[in-house]
Amino acid sequence: MHQESEAPHGRLADGFGRVVSYLRVSVTDRCNLRCMYCRPVKDFQAISHSDILSYEEYLRIIRLGAPLGLTKVRLTGGEPLARRGFDRFLEQVMLAAPGMDVRLTTNGTLLPGRAKTLASLGLKAVNISLDSLDPENFHRITGADLFADVRRGIDECLEAGLRVKVNAVALRGVNDHELAAFVELARTHPLDMRFIEFMPIGGDTLWEDTLYWPASDILEQAGRMAELSPVHHGDEGHGPARMWTIAGGQGRLGVISGLSGHYCLSCNRLRLTCDGRLRPCLYSDTEYRLRPLLRSAKTSEARILEVLRRALARKPMGHKLLAERRKRGVCLKPMTAIGG
Ligand code: SAM
Repeated sequence: MHQESEAPHGRLADGFGRVVSYLRVSVTDRCNLRCMYCRPVKDFQAISHSDILSYEEYLRIIRLGAPLGLTKVRLTGGEPLARRGFDRFLEQVMLAAPGMDVRLTTNGTLLPGRAKTLASLGLKAVNISLDSLDPENFHRITGADLFADVRRGIDECLEAGLRVKVNAVALRGVNDHELAAFVELARTHPLDMRFIEFMPIGGDTLWEDTLYWPASDILEQAGRMAELSPVHHGDEGHGPARMWTIAGGQGRLGVISGLSGHYCLSCNRLRLTCDGRLRPCLYSDTEYRLRPLLRSAKTSEARILEVLRRALARKPMGHKLLAERRKRGVCLKPMTAIGG
């Protein structure tokens, strides 16, 4: 019974009654890093520029989504700050959907000198990916010697009053020996430090059992390094993250256990890929093409809404796909084209 329905207050729900209020928008598949867990192992084929949505096309979708109950938009990529004209686009998103909770996910390398501007445009919160606190290990994981820039970017965001979440993909044998340093970062800075379980995303993923460092192990180890108290669900919206405060600390520690646990039942997300496809579930390559519609002068708003509703109606329970295909990669599209 995959029928979409109107949820209370006119918001859209999917066939399982999940209300969708959060759109993750990938604004580019290009990135200045080559993170080992994100990019395909083989040569990366960038999507041609003409196939990537224009900012105006993204804005049209966001404008349409707002009255349907979209309350949160995350701009991601690839590396969103690497796309030309991004700051102006951010400003336009704020204007297009007043009151929308707009967030940014970035690798942080291009933040120095820019955090104040982003805050002045109305951005309140930023997620910064940082998988190592050791410059050499950072280089090994990302393929770039840019640790100092990310670290400076974090400080500048905090100084600019942005709420900062730092995300590290948990990789056994790669960054697990740095756990104490990450706990210390959270203890001494007013930020949320979160570990994301490594997900087998993309046909050419590097994922294997030996690299998998589950959330339960991270928590058990971190619990020996600091006094952690759980932040109770419902205190604040954390999405799929489970958070802990650190006794005597300024920040908090958290885990996102997309592999050992799942949050499909409460999933409120829809993704828009940079080539203009709606992706109802991270784990499923089933996507709904919007780009040809957006580029045809004949397309009415009603037609675009129809596709949006159809995509929502068929939003699957991703954990079932994950259980079936974990060993060979749950989907073919690389994370860099999906946006995380
Ligand atoms: N360039 C930006 C960044 O680095 O944050 C945005 C794009 S990146 C694809 C978005 C998020 O996906 C990052 O937090 C990254 O760590 C995460 N990610 C990428 N591949 C992953 C994987 N296989 N498993 C878990 N998280 C992954």
